[in-house]
Amino acid sequence: MSSTLRFHVVGEAFKKHPIEVPAPKERPSTFFAKYVFNRQKMRQFLPPKIYDKMIDVIDNGATLDLATADAVAIGMKQWAMELGATHITHWFQPLTEGTAEKHDGFVEHDGKGGMVEEFSGKQLVQQEPDASSFPSGGIRSTFEARGYSAWDPASPVFVIGDTLMIPTVFIAYTGEALDYKAPLKKALRAVDEAATDVARYFYPDVKKVISNLGWEQEYFLVDEDIYAARPDLLMTGRTLMGHDSAKNQQMDDHYFGSIPERVAAFMKDLEIQALELGIPCKTRHNEAAPNQFELAPIFEETNLAVDHNMLLMMLMKKVARKHGFRCLLHEKPFSGINGSGKHNNWSLATDTGILLHAPGKTQLDNLRFITFIVETLMAVWKYNGLLKASIVSASNAHRLGAYEAPPAIISSFLGKQLSNVLEHLEQSADDEILLTGKQGLQLDIPQIPELLIDNTDRNRTSPFAFTGNRFEFRAVGSEANCASAMIALNAAVAETLTLFKTRVDALISEGWDTMKAILKVVREDIHACKPIHFEGNGYSEEWKLEAARRGLDVEASVPLVIDRYLDDASVTMFEKMHVFTRSEIVARNEIKWDTYTKKIQIEARIFGDLCINHILPVATRYQTVLMENVRNICDIFPADEATQLTSENVALIREISEHKSYIASHVQRLIDARRVANRIVSDREKAIAYHDTVAPLIEDIRYHVDKLELIIDDEMWPLPKYREILFIR
Ligand code: ADP
Ligand code: MG
Repeated sequence: MSSTLRFHVVGEAFKKHPIEVPAPKERPSTFFAKYVFNRQKMRQFLPPKIYDKMIDVIDNGATLDLATADAVAIGMKQWAMELGATHITHWFQPLTEGTAEKHDGFVEHDGKGGMVEEFSGKQLVQQEPDASSFPSGGIRSTFEARGYSAWDPASPVFVIGDTLMIPTVFIAYTGEALDYKAPLKKALRAVDEAATDVARYFYPDVKKVISNLGWEQEYFLVDEDIYAARPDLLMTGRTLMGHDSAKNQQMDDHYFGSIPERVAAFMKDLEIQALELGIPCKTRHNEAAPNQFELAPIFEETNLAVDHNMLLMMLMKKVARKHGFRCLLHEKPFSGINGSGKHNNWSLATDTGILLHAPGKTQLDNLRFITFIVETLMAVWKYNGLLKASIVSASNAHRLGAYEAPPAIISSFLGKQLSNVLEHLEQSADDEILLTGKQGLQLDIPQIPELLIDNTDRNRTSPFAFTGNRFEFRAVGSEANCASAMIALNAAVAETLTLFKTRVDALISEGWDTMKAILKVVREDIHACKPIHFEGNGYSEEWKLEAARRGLDVEASVPLVIDRYLDDASVTMFEKMHVFTRSEIVARNEIKWDTYTKKIQIEARIFGDLCINHILPVATRYQTVLMENVRNICDIFPADEATQLTSENVALIREISEHKSYIASHVQRLIDARRVANRIVSDREKAIAYHDTVAPLIEDIRYHVDKLELIIDDEMWPLPKYREILFIR
């Protein structure tokens, strides 16, 4: 783009877009889930017997037979057609970032030369998308391209536009998972079984434990014209160059500030559409960085919450375009200011309504509370490397450890009160006291609820913080599918709860009292998992050293962090919990390494192009202007005076030359490094080469490009600058 074009784009962005405020709607309760085939619609559109069967399938995991599916399909089709649906799609979450769909019309031949609207139970339950172009890590060789998508009745179907969307799992012909949903459902089953067993020590009537997830989605909005004028944003979702804006977030004036009008209109539109699709949106606010915002719904069952997050990310992009914005979900679109994350608030709850991670009113409740807290910490401690592996990506790597984001080390913050309780429990031998409920002693667990309710010492630097009745996993990336983190966390907690029960049961069979046995095991575990507990500043340099001393995983290289999935402990855990087989893990790791490589490869290519086609020519042009000026001065003035008058420009000419030659030579190195890396056959080794040799060169060269941005005539600079991208809305 020529410089005049840049000014045109920026100018237009300032002027345009009458704010389109969505038509006022009735109260949210009246249109909530309007486009969702939820229980209420099922009751309306399904025969009572079929309704009961479906509830049994959804609530108790009963298997769905084809006859029931056929009957469900009839009611579902009627409901969907009343809303104008003409097509169905199986909606699934392949191992890419987004979701995938393949639309089929409702129409079938009627056998008499005409057409009839048809939608069978078989179509509802199963499809066979030709899936050879989705990542499979070699599980599905190309000659066996079949993949199956199968309905997940636990996540209700919904209508978008003219399409009935059916949430599905996606598996290979051979049964291996090719998606996020299938293993997530397995991990949720594992944690349900393990946690139910443990919860029954305390409350024998518990039948089921539900994993809850409340995500907080951060994002940036940028004007679409400006976005289109930045090839790096367009191709990679982040700016690969751009000097810091003089003002960015240092005034702290954006966080919770008033929401700009055009953004507010976008948010309102988005919320209405999300609510209509059954996403229980609750909170919206500005985030810390300019043009950064957050949306959070009320927490839901984890499988549903994950689907809703995927759906919301899809909606955000669509609605943003309607309002003349582009929604950036990348974890680090701009250097020098905050990146975006997706805090995953997670807890376990029983079917009887008890939040297992929340303190209660009785001693029994509180021993249960401590048990679930400590066994969660055990999982986070034992699998801290794996949990990190579940959230790393090429894009999240830019965020972790930089600017107000959790470091690339997993630790857990508990707050003063809970830390004190655990410490006291560990050190005192007074289990008699706890169990007989004598008052007034130090270990006064019944007091916990009051103390924790106004637990205000929040630690924003902790990647896994206890926040009163849940843990908040903050290292998850804004662009990620939450399922990845939720699979690892729920499976790991399922394993520690299983081991916990084995140990408690062994003591009970030796004649121990149940509560005493629980307390004994809890005590041992409080001691064992101590290294994961960290209340200090996670951003500090000392923490990195301290964490290494404690044996926590401090690796920061994404391709190497991914190795943690293949640790013996991880593989054994996943296999025992029936979440992944070894071959699935191997395949998924291949995909992760390959994805990492491709991301950096694309960045390196577009960055090289920008340097050669945009930056260097402009630098040369400006240099020529300076040289003409110098020559003209020399023509007019006597030599002595001319030397003096041209000294600044001569220095600038030199400086530009230095940056130019650095950029030119290092872009060549970047190309060479890619060539060398591309010849590597192993996905893992290739990703390592991209991490070690290609990625650092981009940052290296960027420094010089950003310096040029500071000295070259603003009128000539070809790319919209940070101040223009970040402050126009
Ligand atoms: P923050 O102060 O961190 O922004 P919010 O109160 O906005 O926290 O809540 C963030 C998310 O946590 C919301 O989705 C909320 O519903 C969810 N949440 C609250 N309690 C729980 C819980 N016990 N388990 C899981 N998620 C929860
Ligand atoms: Mg939060």
